[in-house]
Amino acid sequence: MKTLYYSHPDFLFHDTGAGHPECADRLRSITTALAAPEFSSLIRVLPPLGTKQQIRLIHPQFHLEAIRAAIPKHGEHYLDQDTVVSPGSELAAFRAVGAVCDAVDKIMTVQADNAFCAIRPPGHHAEPDLAMGFCLFNNVAIAAEYAHRHYHLQRIAIVDFDVHHGNGTQAAFYKQANVLYASSHEMPNFPGTGYPTETGVGNIINVPLAAGDTGIEFRQKYSAIILPALRHFKPDLLLISAGFDAHKDDPLASIRLVEDDFRWLTQELMDIADHYCAGRIISALEGGYNLKALASSVAVHVKTLMGVFTA
Ligand SMILES: [Zn+2]
Repeated sequence: MKTLYYSHPDFLFHDTGAGHPECADRLRSITTALAAPEFSSLIRVLPPLGTKQQIRLIHPQFHLEAIRAAIPKHGEHYLDQDTVVSPGSELAAFRAVGAVCDAVDKIMTVQADNAFCAIRPPGHHAEPDLAMGFCLFNNVAIAAEYAHRHYHLQRIAIVDFDVHHGNGTQAAFYKQANVLYASSHEMPNFPGTGYPTETGVGNIINVPLAAGDTGIEFRQKYSAIILPALRHFKPDLLLISAGFDAHKDDPLASIRLVEDDFRWLTQELMDIADHYCAGRIISALEGGYNLKALASSVAVHVKTLMGVFTA
């Protein structure tokens, strides 16, 4: 299996300030974990900067300009109580968009089988016209629309296993039947959306989890609801909003997954992608705030993408 791994020093310069959970150390811990010899066959890619045109696929011009105008010359500027920008945020945010779009290009032109993008800021809370929840631009939503426009894909699936609901991704595609958005998330928790009754045009699937749920409930709900829906949809491309904050050690939520649950879901998604779309998967980092659990969970997710457990 040829797996692309996107990372870039620019992601470290999005500085959210002391004590913020969405910090550069998250990526440092992932970088350290993926420096192990077992990851030597990863194809490591330094992503290009994304373009305004790519961002405009999801976000109106005024949103793009508002983010750029909010970037301070020094220190930090709070867009809301959670969402911070610093002098390095613009490059990081553009680079994150560049990573997912470059991954779409490379996967669609069969230069690799799948990709993991270790990017920040994350994206799934960013609505078309609103930055929130640590997110400025919705990386995965942009990747989906980019794949639709440039490669004319008609059935793009997004699976979001971050412990929080991806309100931004849902908002972007709420009336767009060519994109299936399926999310599992703890309720009640931030951002408060993600009820099963929010179904879009039949293309939105919300699967709430309750505080204290473990891999047992997680696997049951995926097996009963999300995986069958994906098989029914028959995706041309599978995108993953890969947040690892449903881990039992995560400080921002109360779901109790372990690394093997991320391995299980990744493998199930790969089996579906193998069946319907030649294995095409692009996974992009969202949350995950316990540095140790994040590193070990990403390691298992990426190893699975590399085919290590099925070889
Ligand atoms: Zn999250």
